[in-house]
Amino acid sequence: MLHRHPNYYPGFRCLGGACPDTCCRDWDIVLDEETLSDYQHAPASLAHRLQESLTTDEEGDTCFRLDRRGFCTMLTSDGLCAIQKEWGESHLCDHCAAYPRFIEEYGNLTESSLAMSCPEAARLLLETPAFQVEEVDDGHPDQPFPDIPPQLLSGLETSRQAVLRGMEDQQYTLWERLQGVLYFADTLQGSIDREDYPAMAQATLSLCPLSSTGKGKKFAQILCRFFSSLEPLRPTWPQRLGQCCQQLEGLTVEEYQGLCDRFENQFPQWQRHLTNVAEYLLLRHWHKTVNDDQLYGRAAFVSCSMSLLYHLFLAQWTKQEALSQAEEISICCAFSREVEHMEENLDLAIDTCAALSPDAIHFPQC
Ligand code: SF4
Repeated sequence: MLHRHPNYYPGFRCLGGACPDTCCRDWDIVLDEETLSDYQHAPASLAHRLQESLTTDEEGDTCFRLDRRGFCTMLTSDGLCAIQKEWGESHLCDHCAAYPRFIEEYGNLTESSLAMSCPEAARLLLETPAFQVEEVDDGHPDQPFPDIPPQLLSGLETSRQAVLRGMEDQQYTLWERLQGVLYFADTLQGSIDREDYPAMAQATLSLCPLSSTGKGKKFAQILCRFFSSLEPLRPTWPQRLGQCCQQLEGLTVEEYQGLCDRFENQFPQWQRHLTNVAEYLLLRHWHKTVNDDQLYGRAAFVSCSMSLLYHLFLAQWTKQEALSQAEEISICCAFSREVEHMEENLDLAIDTCAALSPDAIHFPQC
């Protein structure tokens, strides 16, 4: 069986009380049966607090209670989990023990990654000099992957390898690479729709220079409005999107281009950082096509998300002509928390992006 993970994965260490945010906030953490029976034997010092911290959600599942600010009631004032602190890590529920690690299984293939909603995972991702996928074969026999045509998974495998290679082609800008990925995914989608999976192997990713349409700013505003129409987890997210949209509104096309030029000159690492984020999203979402046959929508979602993140970076940079690492991380975490982790938001974003042809997606400066 094959196991894969991004190159920066093994370097992850939870920041604990030093975390600039916390994962013990806003989520409804549903507890598994094994953990609930374990909690029957909690030490006396913890048992009462634990009982008081459990509640039932709308689906009737037991989960941790959140306080008025959205923090888990098991979180202590020093930013640590009372269960872990007083009883030990082995007593955390499955969700809390795993986060920000997550695993996707595709028959004989297991892919692990780190959710970008965690500030430390986001820092590692942004800072990695080049996004790479590491692979280990444990020698165990392949597991069957029921109900999924093997040729579909094989086509996704080959095409994603081409996409991740293409995303590292420094001869082209990030936007040129993403546009190439869009057209490639559009062709692949045709083969998937016809269930002609062997034809996926014939498609090729070609990159070429982009010509300007003068619509990059307007398209970014459309993206801000769309993403702020989704159900927010924290009010700061739609506020940030609204401010970005407003800043862009007041700019002529020339002022917008001048601003982008100054930002890119003073913050040249933007392209490496956003390339890493794009590759993280492509790695994470490309193969999920096995669930609904929707590959193009995922490629379009990644392209639109990169344009959105670029403009959120730009809007933050504009305030003081500087973008700190903490601000960059905070924007990436918010995006991941509000879009990637909110199933309904993610589905709606993919469906909406799927309706945009490659020519209808406009990149910054274009
Ligand atoms: S968000 Fe990440 S670094 Fe922060 S406490 Fe959670 S796992 Fe640790």
